[in-house]
Amino acid sequence: MDTMRTYDDLENLVKNHYQNPDLALLRKAYERADAAHAKVMRLTGQPYITHPLAVAYRLAEMGLHMNVVAAGLLHDVLEDSGITEDEMRADFGDDITTLVLSVTKLKHAVHYRGEERYAENMRKMFLAMASDVRVVFMKFADRLHNLQTLYGQPKHKQLRIARESLEIYAPIAGRLGMSEIKGELEDGAFAYILPKEFERVKEIMDVKVRERGAQVSRIIDQTEKLISVSRILNFQVYGRVKRLYSLYKKMLRYGDDIEKIYDLIAIRVIVTSVEECYAVLGMVHQRWRPLPGRIKDYIAQPKPNGYQSLHTTIFADDKTIVEFQIRTREMHELAEYGVAAHWRYKEDGTRDVQNMRWMEELMLIQKELESKKDFMEQLEIMKIDVFKDRIFVFTPKGDVIDLPEGATPVDFAYAIHSQIGNKCTSAKVNDVVRNLDITLHSGDIVEIVTDKNRRGPNPDWSKFVKTRYAKGKIRDATKSSVRIWLSGMLKSKEEPSKKK
Ligand code: MN
Repeated sequence: MDTMRTYDDLENLVKNHYQNPDLALLRKAYERADAAHAKVMRLTGQPYITHPLAVAYRLAEMGLHMNVVAAGLLHDVLEDSGITEDEMRADFGDDITTLVLSVTKLKHAVHYRGEERYAENMRKMFLAMASDVRVVFMKFADRLHNLQTLYGQPKHKQLRIARESLEIYAPIAGRLGMSEIKGELEDGAFAYILPKEFERVKEIMDVKVRERGAQVSRIIDQTEKLISVSRILNFQVYGRVKRLYSLYKKMLRYGDDIEKIYDLIAIRVIVTSVEECYAVLGMVHQRWRPLPGRIKDYIAQPKPNGYQSLHTTIFADDKTIVEFQIRTREMHELAEYGVAAHWRYKEDGTRDVQNMRWMEELMLIQKELESKKDFMEQLEIMKIDVFKDRIFVFTPKGDVIDLPEGATPVDFAYAIHSQIGNKCTSAKVNDVVRNLDITLHSGDIVEIVTDKNRRGPNPDWSKFVKTRYAKGKIRDATKSSVRIWLSGMLKSKEEPSKKK
């Protein structure tokens, strides 16, 4: 479960994955971390540096900016007081230091206390406090390695960390569309929280994989042949095995009837375009008979978290049932990495610290949190509904903006700044130009285009905006423009008298 990474492993990965990576920065971060954690051992008996190395390796695998990878190496050094904040700022700059500080701060904020009703608030708090989505990625990488090395912890700590991962971290990963990480978090925690069930589900899966392995590889071969005689040139076909925790949950729903679970092993087809997805679906249906009611077009109708694919279930030649999942490479990246996909290999992924904006109400809550000792007491004070039915949308720089469900780009613009709201003309959502009245979803990256010559908001916007704040601002701006217009009228009426 736990693969030890050396600095050379990390450097090789970076050399192979990145264009012109800053290797001097990487080495400097490694050397500082190594010195800071020298002689410290983890409870697993390994030197402490294996942990930051694993975290940085994971972040590099995700293709995140080198500053994030370097911050991964340094993420625990402030706590171990091997280096002061000022020293870090001098040596590594503001961006890396801010990332490390945010990760350190979050460590103390989110603790699972066994109260289920707080779990949702914890998740929202976590996202809100992270503010910069890169901090969320760092926390995931940190948590994944801690789960992999959980065997070294005393039993009560194992349980707490596993619960936190399952109740707080995994749902956040799910919301951000990061299904790969969500699955790893869940399976890592599952083994500790429900060890008997974990073993049982694992056994069932092992048997199924052994039973059906040959058949599935036959279908993969046949599918490859089907596609290779078509005009589609660039494609991949492979089998994917369902994650254990997700299988466990499905078994609970289906009353343990494993035969009713058709996607234990699914066949995945990755192509280049949407047209090719539908073409492959056609080929599959021509070759094998589809099960009625099992064709799902998540391309035309994406899941709420943005997931897109075509799903269909067919009767194989031996009358067993097999699910196909067909998607483009881009959809695949989004399905595996979610929000993080947008940050992959982007060299402009650094964020401008000057522009860091916290949402007003969140800033207030945060201040309150710092001044009060009891965190749970604070959650009571905040009232659950502050965070009820909220979505989390990102600026292109990775700041989190917290909005009510159903919010539009105009709500987003006003949440950033009233002048951005007043001057907005169009919006780009995940790099695509969209109307100002569309509904935003958690994980969307929204960029507002403004026109400084624009006189003010369109009064019709108040028909679709969801936040009271935006409504109020639109009303105010519209009123004042009426006032200006009226005063213009008055003036022009007065004008003749002035001439007298
Ligand atoms: Mn750590």
